[in-house]
Amino acid sequence: MALRTLENLGDLSGQRVIVRCDLNVPLADGIVTDDGRIRASLPTLNALLQQGAKVIVISHLGRPEGAPDERYSLRPVAQRLSELLGNPVAFASDTVGTAAADAVTGLRNGELAVLENLRFNAGETAKDATERQAFADHLAHFGDAFVSDGFGVVHRKHASVYELASTIPSAAGLLISAETNVLDRLTERPERPYTVVLGGSKVSDKLGVIAHLLPRVDRILVGGGMMFTFLAAQGHPVGASLLETDQLETVRGYLAEAAERDVQIVLPTDVIVAERFAADSAHTVQGIDAIEQGPAGASGIGLDIGPETATTFADLVASSTTVFWNGPMGVFEFAAFAEGTRSVAGALTRVAGLGVVGGGDSAAAVRALGFTNDDFGHVSTGGGASLEFLEGKKLPGLEVLGWQ
Ligand code: ADP
Ligand code: MG
Repeated sequence: MALRTLENLGDLSGQRVIVRCDLNVPLADGIVTDDGRIRASLPTLNALLQQGAKVIVISHLGRPEGAPDERYSLRPVAQRLSELLGNPVAFASDTVGTAAADAVTGLRNGELAVLENLRFNAGETAKDATERQAFADHLAHFGDAFVSDGFGVVHRKHASVYELASTIPSAAGLLISAETNVLDRLTERPERPYTVVLGGSKVSDKLGVIAHLLPRVDRILVGGGMMFTFLAAQGHPVGASLLETDQLETVRGYLAEAAERDVQIVLPTDVIVAERFAADSAHTVQGIDAIEQGPAGASGIGLDIGPETATTFADLVASSTTVFWNGPMGVFEFAAFAEGTRSVAGALTRVAGLGVVGGGDSAAAVRALGFTNDDFGHVSTGGGASLEFLEGKKLPGLEVLGWQ
């Protein structure tokens, strides 16, 4: 069954519509440092405001422990949202208390209020379903309808994601619709050649994705910290690079399965090896047979794919019709080790078919490197959620909206 969409909710003019967004953005000293997720919520919010709905935005931010904590206030997010909408936004200093009730009552048609962080209430993430339902019931009082649009949380059985959606009439917003449509194309009907690029820190985070996508793709390119477990599985000494020895057997299993299925697993041929894990560390380019033969010897740390690999990866990406990329190719947070990630990102912008960036750090990386979301076919706002979707898992926040 397909998702229920906004049209299923009928005419929303004058209706109070609660919208669950994922406005969990990075903050530094109370300033939003990457507003990607706020921007991603705009299409749905604008659509509802234009219909003359009274819009009540709810979201979490960070991981407060079920009680108010100023460090995780959504106030700066509401401020940024107001700037992006070009209209004032009301802000309620609590989620379900009198401030929230007043903010909602004060709304006129086509106006929007943001309620304080959902996770200031223990009911939001409670293990106990009755506690979650009680909190969802409080929230439900504020709305005539519910729009779920926080794609980043659809893999969570939280009150505002799951219970609320079955308490009042509900539908998916435009972001969730777009995300599921793209991820479905990646799993069910990819146009070939189909390349998956995996990086990031740990293989263990990506095992499910490798297992589920291996039978569906033409090739998997492996970079980032996880490349060293693959290289080690093939017998290359990797110095002090990130290595998950407990995954060596699993990785060997994938290499064997790929060979059997005629799927190419493309590993780096060269690596940038640093003396220390630091932005200003001295570093050299080493062939994969010589990772321990740089100036730092066996204490060298591989922090990026090398230039030869970057070119190979970029060519394979740019010549594919479908590409899914998750996980930076190196420690992009340090400029000296961002080139591999930059090359792959650049190649992804040239994909003629569908080029998708998935993963929280990957999305942040491409924006930090100066790309914009419009440069790519799609930038997923969901880290864990998009990975779980691609692992073939059932996501409670989608199932409750009719997805099967
Ligand atoms: P995503 O959130 O996109 O799924 P991950 O969380 O798996 O990505 O990984 C992101 C992190 O991986 C980044 O912080 C980056 O610094 C780190 N990383 C990439 N390459 C390496 C490497 N060679 N060694 C250590 N860490 C790495
Ligand atoms: Mg991450």
